[in-house]
Amino acid sequence: MRAEIAVLPGDGIGPEVTAAAVSVLRTVARRHGHDFTFTEHDIGGIAIDRHGDPLPAATLRACQQADAVLLGAVGGPKWSDPNAKIRPEQGLLALRRGLGLFANLRPVRPHPAALNASPIKPHLLTGVDIMVVRELTGGIYFGDKTRDERGASDLCSYSVTEIERVVRSAFRLARQRRGYLVSVDKANVLETSRLWRDVTARIGREEFADVKLEHVLVDAMAMHLLSRPREYDVIVTENMFGDILTDEASMLAGSLGLLPSASLGDGRVGLYEPIHGSAPDIAGKGIANPYAAILSCAMLLRHSLGLDEEADCIERAVDGALNAQVFTNDLAAGGRGVSTQAAAQAVIEQLNEHCYVAELRD
Ligand code: NAD
Repeated sequence: MRAEIAVLPGDGIGPEVTAAAVSVLRTVARRHGHDFTFTEHDIGGIAIDRHGDPLPAATLRACQQADAVLLGAVGGPKWSDPNAKIRPEQGLLALRRGLGLFANLRPVRPHPAALNASPIKPHLLTGVDIMVVRELTGGIYFGDKTRDERGASDLCSYSVTEIERVVRSAFRLARQRRGYLVSVDKANVLETSRLWRDVTARIGREEFADVKLEHVLVDAMAMHLLSRPREYDVIVTENMFGDILTDEASMLAGSLGLLPSASLGDGRVGLYEPIHGSAPDIAGKGIANPYAAILSCAMLLRHSLGLDEEADCIERAVDGALNAQVFTNDLAAGGRGVSTQAAAQAVIEQLNEHCYVAELRD
């Protein structure tokens, strides 16, 4: 298969983890007989420095024309003045909007070798395999805002169409997994949540009768995620609840450095990125954990290119590296972790040892 992948390294550790991830994708391409081309483009702080714009038009155009986009992270102290007119995060929001991405997928699957890195008791984490689907382009983050000397307001609004499309994505994922979807809302208080619940129930009844659907209030979900995470399969929720619950869920996996994400829309192009930020405290040292970026590549292969077998290979290779205790500092005891490059190399070795070689099939 031929595929063009736009790579947006961004700021801080972004360039380090994306370089590691691209080296893994190159290995997959070589071993499975694919032709992937990679083109790098600026986003975030570095794009402000070079072009005065956190999402230059050339970057957006390249992403729209690519088959998939791999992003590192944006932001850092150099651009963090809250009163600044131009900020790195605006680049990310504009990119999501420009690509029409409305569903953010965040899988959480604590690895057995890293259970001790989580603040949650290991016996609660064994077997946890959750996919959180967060609505990405609506709700209170995008509603009208007001502010005067007496107060401030943020409008939360959702259209039926906005709810339908993200809920359908979540139902489809649940159908491919264990057939169980939990929709999270605050229907006892919010009108938008009552609409969310009605629409979700209707879609479930009319289109996904084979998927078991439950509704849970967001405050209860915040507790259940920590007390009985194993019970959940796919969770779908609106933008702000999803923002908060996905950060909470990330603690189940022990380190931000292990968690990938995908942002999808109706179109072909998806955006794939680790959930962590630019980690300015460790940037430039070559010690960032690249596994989240590498696992984001597995999602890219699965969701944008339809290469399920290759995606499984990457996930198994990361499992193999973790089983072999190839840990960066965020996972290793006493700061004795390996470098970013060594961790990526361990994944490549796992691929070379255990993954299918296309040429041998011919
Ligand atoms: P962060 O995720 O960058 O870092 C939080 C902590 O986790 C730090 O101690 C960091 O060293 C550690 N960490 C993160 N990723 C790691 C990895 N791969 N390996 C090892 N350790 C890792 O969050 P922050 O410090 O709150 O934010 C730093 C900057 O990143 C800010 O400018 C913020 O706006 C930005 N940010 C960007 C994104 C994004 O690009 N999607 C997401 C979150 C934060």
